[in-house]
Amino acid sequence: MKSEFTPDPTISSDRPFVEEKYEPLGKEVYVKKETGLDAMAGDGGYREGYLGDAIRFKMKREGKRFWAGDNISEYVSDADKEQLINDAAEAFETVLDRLLIDRENDPNSKGTARRLAKMYFNEIMAGRYESAPDATAFPNDSTDRYEGMLVVRSELRSMCSHHHQPVSGVAYIGIIAANKLIGLSKYTRIAQWCARRGTLQEELCNDIAREIMKSTGSENIGVYIQATHGCCENRGIMAHSSLTQTTVLKGAFKDDQGTKKEFFDNIKMQQEFSPR
Ligand SMILES: [Zn+2]
Repeated sequence: MKSEFTPDPTISSDRPFVEEKYEPLGKEVYVKKETGLDAMAGDGGYREGYLGDAIRFKMKREGKRFWAGDNISEYVSDADKEQLINDAAEAFETVLDRLLIDRENDPNSKGTARRLAKMYFNEIMAGRYESAPDATAFPNDSTDRYEGMLVVRSELRSMCSHHHQPVSGVAYIGIIAANKLIGLSKYTRIAQWCARRGTLQEELCNDIAREIMKSTGSENIGVYIQATHGCCENRGIMAHSSLTQTTVLKGAFKDDQGTKKEFFDNIKMQQEFSPR
């Protein structure tokens, strides 16, 4: 059925509207639900929402989880990051104001809002916004392939998602290689990529095991983390010598007592060689 179509006079006279010539923009416009229409009708000020809101709505719509420990790099481009940092800096200014800190006259607090925004996106939470480090795999399938256990110690810096306090420690990653090997530094790169988010140590241990399995194709993995937590040291119970240990064992590391023992013996030897 053909519907009546009244052309817009601004394009009708000498430039008739030909539908085929136009393409939808492919962009979506978001208006905050509770304020959108009112804002447009009321003070005439239609305010474009924050980019972060648009990204959050998109993730919600697509059922993408975006907890503090989740990687959301496929939703955030490098160009977006700049805008997100600007918006976060503005929000941190409000936080400082609410904390009654004079960010106009205190020279040490002047650029703090922006420093915080940059630090979250580019450093302490970088592992949320950056895609996985590429770990080139080398074949390990010749007759003299390496069949032993490999244990790599990786320094970790993370942040607890409950208090945004630093978590600092080491992960010992044990693996029995499958048909490919990745460079030694890649284990640490992957571990740090997982750590530079808001995490729980238990969750972090799982994340590292899963990502190492993904990039090595090995099903025999052990991850042991020991770390101190700022939220226990600097506040709350103020426990200065608290140490949290977590272990995730997969495949032979879990099922074979010999492999499990070798892993923990290796950790002990590493700690004797170079205590942290
Ligand atoms: Zn905490």
